[in-house]
Amino acid sequence: MSYEHIEAPDGGAKITLADEETGELDVPENPIIPILYGDGTGEDVGPVAQDVLSAAAEATGRDIEWMRVYAGETAREKYDENLPDETVQAIRDHRVAIKGPLTTPVGAGFRSLNVALRQTLDLYANVRPTYHLEGVPSPVSKPEEMDMVTFRENTEDVYSGIEFEEGTDEVARVREFIEDEMGYDSIHEGPVGIGIKPITEFGTKRLVREAIDYALENDRDSVTLVHKGNIMKFTEGQFRDWGYEVAEEEYGDEVITEDTLWEERDGEAPEDTVVVNDRIADNMLQQLLTRTDEYDVLAMPNLNGDYLSDAAGAQIGGLGIAPGGNFGHGRMLAEPVHGSAPKYAGQDKVNPSALILSGVLMFEYMGWDDAAELVRDAVEETIAAKEVTYDFHRQIEGGEKLGTSEFGQRVVDRIQN
Ligand code: NAP
Repeated sequence: MSYEHIEAPDGGAKITLADEETGELDVPENPIIPILYGDGTGEDVGPVAQDVLSAAAEATGRDIEWMRVYAGETAREKYDENLPDETVQAIRDHRVAIKGPLTTPVGAGFRSLNVALRQTLDLYANVRPTYHLEGVPSPVSKPEEMDMVTFRENTEDVYSGIEFEEGTDEVARVREFIEDEMGYDSIHEGPVGIGIKPITEFGTKRLVREAIDYALENDRDSVTLVHKGNIMKFTEGQFRDWGYEVAEEEYGDEVITEDTLWEERDGEAPEDTVVVNDRIADNMLQQLLTRTDEYDVLAMPNLNGDYLSDAAGAQIGGLGIAPGGNFGHGRMLAEPVHGSAPKYAGQDKVNPSALILSGVLMFEYMGWDDAAELVRDAVEETIAAKEVTYDFHRQIEGGEKLGTSEFGQRVVDRIQN
């Protein structure tokens, strides 16, 4: 395919789908991988992560052919639009890609490009492994107790973009429908903005399946459905019910619900069985702090996942180190939890670890476990040696403060040695 502004590499081969049903990939030793640096500090961390991941690929006898793609500010410069079709197409065609953060204006302006990308490519599960690396400073006393993976539904809930602005004809019509036809009288008088929160059986069940499959494949003990179903009974409550339905109807003896566990086994889980339980979201936020080591895999609707994964990220050292990835059927887009932190843009200052470790997740998805381990170990060793960026330096006594690119170089040096 020829592109308008994207330069396709001369060499390399595409990652393709090996099995339509399972979504399994066929990954060549020299894959073409689209990379989107993103806005703000994305331009600082993008090239650094790229170098680190290239070094790990080379050290394990492989070669990544990077293909730079554009969205946000860089796309406005080149294409005069925020999310060019060829960017979406390139990511779609190559199946595995990595991106930095994209800025989203608050209140007005365009909708989130991140949300648009996730929805357009149907990347329905946002997965964030939240584990502590040795030496990383944390606000809690036992950060090593956290070793959790969050599965956040990525395509619906209040992120579906069905919102009506105050003062418009549309909001007046929706209000009229709600009040006159449906008989609700709980909206205050005067101007109102209205949003719709769809939670579907389809969206819920495929997300919960991903979480349970992950737990089974990775010897995890439990999957917790996190919801606010006590208040939002027909959306979040239904998420919980459909989640249990998947567990009970599709996994046989491999999965047991917490209720059955207590009713039939006095709380004692059989070996190699994943326990599915549920927690109300506000309680879950405090359980993260008070009973950290009891939680393994969490599955939740979009907004809960957004809040909860950032909070969990803080416990293991903050946004500078929190990786993530968006997964669909036979495709994934790696991306850190943090945003574009515009106040630090262009200063070669912020921590690139979150994007680098998102690359670890990408390597694991590609089946490059050796390269993934190499990167993770090199990042951990660099931090344990107290060679750190500003965010960790302010919390570590006697550390050496490095810029984004210097930190990346230390990681590369460790990979090469
Ligand atoms: P943010 O960019 O994540 O920054 C919030 C704070 O987190 C920073 O001030 C900094 O804290 C810390 N931080 C973020 N990235 C870091 C890094 N690489 N290394 C070390 N510390 C880091 O959140 P925001 O200011 O709320 O959002 C800015 C823009 O990003 C918004 O337009 C938002 O919509 C967008 N955003 C995009 C994504 C995405 O692309 N997926 C995700 C979230 C937000 P200190 O100043 O305390 O050091």
